[in-house]
Amino acid sequence: DACVVWFRRDLRLSDQPTLLAAADAAPRALALFVLDPRLLGPSGPARRTFLYGCLRELDAALGGKLLVVRGDPADVVPRIAKAVGAATVHIAADFGPYGRERDEVVEKSLAADGCELVRSGSPYAVAPGRVTKGDGGPFKVFTPFRRAWADHGWRAPAETGPRTVEWIDPADKDGGPRAVGIPDDEKVDAELPEPGEAAALRRWTEFLDGGVEDYGGTRDRPDKPGTSRMSVYLKYGCIHPRTILADLARQRSASAGTYRTEIAWREFYADVLHQRPDSARKNYDRAFDALPVASGKGAEERFAAWKEGRTGFPIVDAGMRQLREQAWMHNRVRMIVASFLVKDLHLPWWWGARYFMQLLVDGDLASNQHGWQWTAGSGTDASPYFRIFNPITQGERFDPDGDYVRRFVPELGGIPGKQVHQPWKLQDGIPDGYPEPIVDHKVEREEALARYERVKAAR
Ligand code: FAD
Repeated sequence: DACVVWFRRDLRLSDQPTLLAAADAAPRALALFVLDPRLLGPSGPARRTFLYGCLRELDAALGGKLLVVRGDPADVVPRIAKAVGAATVHIAADFGPYGRERDEVVEKSLAADGCELVRSGSPYAVAPGRVTKGDGGPFKVFTPFRRAWADHGWRAPAETGPRTVEWIDPADKDGGPRAVGIPDDEKVDAELPEPGEAAALRRWTEFLDGGVEDYGGTRDRPDKPGTSRMSVYLKYGCIHPRTILADLARQRSASAGTYRTEIAWREFYADVLHQRPDSARKNYDRAFDALPVASGKGAEERFAAWKEGRTGFPIVDAGMRQLREQAWMHNRVRMIVASFLVKDLHLPWWWGARYFMQLLVDGDLASNQHGWQWTAGSGTDASPYFRIFNPITQGERFDPDGDYVRRFVPELGGIPGKQVHQPWKLQDGIPDGYPEPIVDHKVEREEALARYERVKAAR
């Protein structure tokens, strides 16, 4: 008489509906995590290391009773269910293209042994696919989605904790796949946030007490610590968005409403990816297939300069170096560097998206691919392609004193104030070691608009 709680991207014990379902199903449960090579490979060292940290913390909270195995879930999960005699395996539903398919396969192989896969909750306040237009079709534009999403509403946080379930000691299981333990941290050059549920709740409380009031005013300023840094904790489910939304509902400030809208963007993109799994790799707006993109050696060289943060455009370079140093980048700067890659370098957005996914500790397929497509103009209610970010004025506007650039580009550390955004204008010339701009923004802007004519013609 037992069940299995299979943790995936919900690495927490509070506000965890799977635990309630498990406690209802059987008196004892085995806590399981499967190291799936198909997911770990593309995760990159920063996300893998963060994940291992979360697992260590979860294991400690479970009194050392987390069973960690390695393999294809379709193979190992049914074998574990058998080894503990489980009639049910409990999960939070996954809505990513890979996760959904994996769960269907696991469900079938469990069913062959008479075991049921039980889904309770998801990583979202409202599960993707639930918020629909009056005619039942999916939303393609954010604002009406956000309204319908808020009208739909969500449950109060589930009241759960480590003792909601009585945990089975994995040493007691009879056969089945071998425990492999939690892998060691990898060598990561970036400084990573503290992993785990306790760290997520600490960071969230700190933001609620200190930052949320000013969020509306400072969220666009990369030079200030104005954002919550919750993305990585949401990605791994160290906190559930419902907990966040319930706390925000108790706040009166306009900023709390702004923050809720950002959470809604995360839910919107998950919904869009759920409706259109192909949009992870392809233009959401297929007319953009006609946009001519650069290729060959020149394109590779420009891409390398972008990745290394040596384009000669200070705000772009600062962003790309923040990505390397922190495995994270401020949202405003993500938009600036993405726009630069697509509209100044004429490279395919998916090159940039792939690089982000390798480095970002909060790398999330739905938010990342659609953040990129939004900037590239090919996404849902995208910023129009012809509205082209000027990297110099963006820098001057959102990093007005140049502090952000100087923090990440030491070669420019001696240039005071906002002059740092145009080092080529200095009397003494560009400081040693910093490159000349690799392109002329005015010229590339015209080039981008000329290329866009092909998209218009394809409509
Ligand atoms: P806050 O400003 O404090 O926002 C609070 C939360 O709202 C975030 O943690 C996040 O969960 C959500 N959120 C905010 N903005 C967005 C948005 N535009 N889209 C979706 N959710 C949002 N976010 C990711 O979580 N993973 C990604 O891989 C990712 N890639 C991106 C790529 C590009 C090109 C762009 C333009 C945006 C991307 N974003 C991504 C969205 C956004 O940049 C990050 O969520 C944000 O910078 C995380 O920092 P924060 O937690 O301090 O944000």
